[in-house]
Amino acid sequence: MATIREQCMGVKDYVIEMRRKLHQIPELGINNPQTQAFICAELDKMGVPYQKNTVVHDGVQDTGVVAFIEGKNTDKVIALRADVDALPVLEKLDVPYKSQHEGQMHACGHDNHCAMLLGAAKVLSQIKDQLNGSVKLFFQSGEECITGAKMLIEGGFMENPKVTACAAMHVWPQPQYKSGALIIKNGCMMASGDKFDIYIKGEGSHGSQPALGHDPITCAAQVISALQNITSREIPGDEPRVLSICQVHSGSAWNIIPDQAYMQGTIRTTDPKTRAFYVKRITEVVEGICAAMRCEGRVDWVDGLPPVMNNPEMVDLAVGAVREVLGDEFVEQNVQTSMGNEDFAYFMDMVPGVLAFLNISNDDPATHYSVHSPTFQVDEDILWHGTAFHVQTAVNYLK
Ligand SMILES: [Zn+2]
Ligand SMILES: [Zn+2]
Repeated sequence: MATIREQCMGVKDYVIEMRRKLHQIPELGINNPQTQAFICAELDKMGVPYQKNTVVHDGVQDTGVVAFIEGKNTDKVIALRADVDALPVLEKLDVPYKSQHEGQMHACGHDNHCAMLLGAAKVLSQIKDQLNGSVKLFFQSGEECITGAKMLIEGGFMENPKVTACAAMHVWPQPQYKSGALIIKNGCMMASGDKFDIYIKGEGSHGSQPALGHDPITCAAQVISALQNITSREIPGDEPRVLSICQVHSGSAWNIIPDQAYMQGTIRTTDPKTRAFYVKRITEVVEGICAAMRCEGRVDWVDGLPPVMNNPEMVDLAVGAVREVLGDEFVEQNVQTSMGNEDFAYFMDMVPGVLAFLNISNDDPATHYSVHSPTFQVDEDILWHGTAFHVQTAVNYLK
């Protein structure tokens, strides 16, 4: 009987083929019908049963798919998750499997995630009789819009049978490590991410007569500077955190002082206390500066994603699994927290989980571009490592 390593290596070409096919049909948001049909057709070929999510969100059908691999029982169930949506990016790669959907691209590598999980479905369905528990395979839409994970939770897929642990992996260019290395950090792997809107109400006037109005633009400029002070003067320097203002809009002509300004930004933190501190201080600073500038300021918060907190036992399990199936040299643990976020955090809030990065950069600089870039490219030869991560983690969890 082939070992798990051999079986995962055995699907190497299949995973690459699936990835290239998916790369050509990138879709956005929670509604990815072509991708869903593709996944279902592959699962049908394998004889793996699945269910499509039926949840409709704001009139849009979520297209998540959950496959079920039933082992000896359902006492323990691990959910392995791949996100499958793409980005509104115009692809600049010149490859035979280039995106056929103009202006859309798998620039975050979710085509790889989907392909690797299909590979895992193949292997796990062949060894299911050995599993002391069962596996759910979450093919999740809408990660980029941070809605998809919630849609699967709402669809009831964390229950019946109850999911007791979860694991996921994201491709990530980390050229300093071996290509195919799994990067797994204990504790906070990825930051929380919140969005805020700032509305400044002033009073309009002629550009030549600012004294007759209350200029919201000079006020916005002071607010932007003051907000940066929170990050640099009020939070200890050794703590990872980011505050960025990413949109500023005001005015309509060269000689009119407008009556309002609007800004939008994000905070990223790794500690819930710092997150709460930012919320409090940003509101105070905006209201205070605006009042001093004879304007009115308001902050609207949109609660974003919780941090990705890797569970220590799940980390030990996943690290052990990678060492076993790939070797010690393919594990990196001493890494910094990423300031990006992931809606996988919602599953991890419910059950112990682990999220790993898979380094897809080799010596070829073409594989060093960041995710979300129009030239993002991966080392396809190591994609089977992602399948091996999924399979061995599930097998070891279900011992
Ligand atoms: Zn992304
Ligand atoms: Zn992503």
